[in-house]
Amino acid sequence: MSRVALVTGGTRGIGAAISIALKKAGYSVAASYAGNDEAAQKFRDDNKIAVFKWDVGDFDACQEGIVQVEKELGAIDVLVNNAGITRDTTLHKMDQAKWQAVIDTNLNSLFNMTRGVIDGMRERKYGRVISISSINGQKGQFGQANYAAAKAGVIGFTKSVAQENASKGITANVVAPGYIGTEMVRAVPEEILNSKIISQIPVGRLGEPEEVADCVVFLASEKSGFVTGSTLSVNGGQYMD
Ligand code: NDP
Repeated sequence: MSRVALVTGGTRGIGAAISIALKKAGYSVAASYAGNDEAAQKFRDDNKIAVFKWDVGDFDACQEGIVQVEKELGAIDVLVNNAGITRDTTLHKMDQAKWQAVIDTNLNSLFNMTRGVIDGMRERKYGRVISISSINGQKGQFGQANYAAAKAGVIGFTKSVAQENASKGITANVVAPGYIGTEMVRAVPEEILNSKIISQIPVGRLGEPEEVADCVVFLASEKSGFVTGSTLSVNGGQYMD
């Protein structure tokens, strides 16, 4: 029987690349999403990957979603905490709603989701928890106090979960992407992309979603058992922590 992987926000962008790469690597994959039914259905039909809708910021919805995935695919061996949003503005203009939405989706989701799978992983003495942070959680970013706080929290959370569960065959790691050529980044006008973004990346180009996905596939595999509590930066050398 193939291992089961759940990718939150697995229907679009980097998450979609992760879902597809895990499927290619032989996993039974569930991809969750928030509300964009059209994109999710297209993703499901194109890739033959099961999709599930719930809000990762809602604890009870996460528990129900996990039960549903496990009923359809089997016990979850690999959890990829990928779902994320931005609500950018400087702190002096930030209202509580922008703060809360980003913390709920990008950080509280890690508690909501990981709490829901950890007991089963501990009982079965095997698990992989991979959480997607960001270069901006490592270095901070103008206009992103909410996002940077959440993404830095992902790293502290992961180091703690790694320590608590190492003896149970469970690893927890972070992948921290830099600028990845998703639709949002590619929509930036070319001259700004070149002068302001690519000029800061030593490798001289944007990353590809598949390059992030390949790192996740390694961390999801049995081969990565000695890697835990680590942060793998995938940023073309833009920031070396
Ligand atoms: P996208 O905006 O392309 O996709 C986001 C996915 O997350 C969608 O499937 C979306 O569902 C889902 N999602 C959003 N909010 C929720 C929620 N509350 N509950 C459940 N699912 C939700 O994201 P990216 O591919 O750009 O980013 C993926 C991850 O990588 C994020 O954590 C992001 O912070 C991180 N990252 C991205 C970088 C980049 O360059 N793009 C750089 C560094 C880090 P739906 O389709 O229904 O909205």
